[in-house]
Amino acid sequence: MKLNEISLALLENFALCDHCLGRQFALLGYGFTNQERGYSIKLLLLLEGNRLILNDSYELGTELIKLVALNGLSESAYKVLKSLGQDLERTPTKCYICNGVFEYVDELANKVVEKISQYEYKTFLLGIKIPPEVEEREDELRAQFDIKWSESIKNEFSREIGKKVTEITGKTVQHVKSDVIAIINVFTKQITVKASPIFISGHYKKLVRGIPQHRWVCNKCVGIGCADCGWTGKKYSESIEELITGEIKRMFEGTDAKLHSAGREDVDVRVLGSGRPFIVEVKNPKKRNMDLESLKTEINKGAKDKIEIFNLGFSLKERVQAMKEKKQTKIYRGLVEFENPVSDEQLLEIEKALENKIIYQQSPSRFSRQRSPKNRKKYLYGIEFKRLNPNLVEMLVRCQGGLYIKELVDGDDGKTTPSLAELINTSAKCIELDIMDISMEVA
Ligand SMILES: [Zn+2]
Ligand SMILES: [Zn+2]
Repeated sequence: MKLNEISLALLENFALCDHCLGRQFALLGYGFTNQERGYSIKLLLLLEGNRLILNDSYELGTELIKLVALNGLSESAYKVLKSLGQDLERTPTKCYICNGVFEYVDELANKVVEKISQYEYKTFLLGIKIPPEVEEREDELRAQFDIKWSESIKNEFSREIGKKVTEITGKTVQHVKSDVIAIINVFTKQITVKASPIFISGHYKKLVRGIPQHRWVCNKCVGIGCADCGWTGKKYSESIEELITGEIKRMFEGTDAKLHSAGREDVDVRVLGSGRPFIVEVKNPKKRNMDLESLKTEINKGAKDKIEIFNLGFSLKERVQAMKEKKQTKIYRGLVEFENPVSDEQLLEIEKALENKIIYQQSPSRFSRQRSPKNRKKYLYGIEFKRLNPNLVEMLVRCQGGLYIKELVDGDDGKTTPSLAELINTSAKCIELDIMDISMEVA
């Protein structure tokens, strides 16, 4: 079938607006809108109808013009009919596929602009929602007339609304990683806007003991609030996550902020030296541009010497997983108390025995028994002691990240081997621990 024959057959069976007729031929021609395609086809049919009438095919010609009149090209078609002495009843028809919603493209675009203007953004993306029966109607029509050059109605809506939004705002559509996404239900005119998350990387030092990394729910009330936790629902009044993310969430005007970090330390362990790498994810932020220097100053001021953050920078979602998976080398400083006095020879013996050794560890007993026990092997590169008194020594340990240091000292009833306690056959306890350096191992 020729294109004009298909078009005629389509219009004989269905009322179609210019958009929905033109969309059936969307892949033909270049640089036109579907509306222009649909309009041009109808115009051609009108001219053909007029030609037929003047060529003595009066009936055929009038039928054609009436058809066009019912499908939108009404003013011109009615005038032609009138000049022939025919007064066609003007019954407005609604488009079989879209029910006329393409008329609302401008209105929808203005609404989108109004909604996304609450956000800072350079790029946007539009998502279109359409009732499934609309697409089904169009699919059936295409199958019936064997149409192979069309595009989806969602495509057309998102492109046409997108063009208007760009015209008004000067911002561009970006399909991957756009700053904001607007989901438009073109039939109900509902629009929801969401901003892509922002990622801020940095390092934190934990300068005092007794702060968990993440919010720690009260064991007694499981977060509801009880007398024991002062009705906070928390075992510890604050966490590193809260100290860092509170201000970030406020400044970026996000709905939530989450701390991702390269490992975690026990509540009673400080993190000093070069600090621990982290990335904060801010969800649905209204602001995207920020002076990170002053943000850092604000956070450090608010944290009042409990933590200190530095090296802030903008990051990416992909870097979160990469940061978590990277192997680390750590340096710890700890205080070890032995049950009996230890000699310098014994300390030297341990230093030699543990140099470049693999430490075998089962899951520490202090962890919840519900956790399934795991065995791990971690390298200890070196350990050095400094005596403080007959049974108290300071140690520096350089090892692979993930080695349990408290268990390396006390042996955890044989679950960690070798251990300090095991090597000199006296019980030992790690009474203080700090992380002095975390460096990423080069893969
Ligand atoms: Zn339509
Ligand atoms: Zn409680």
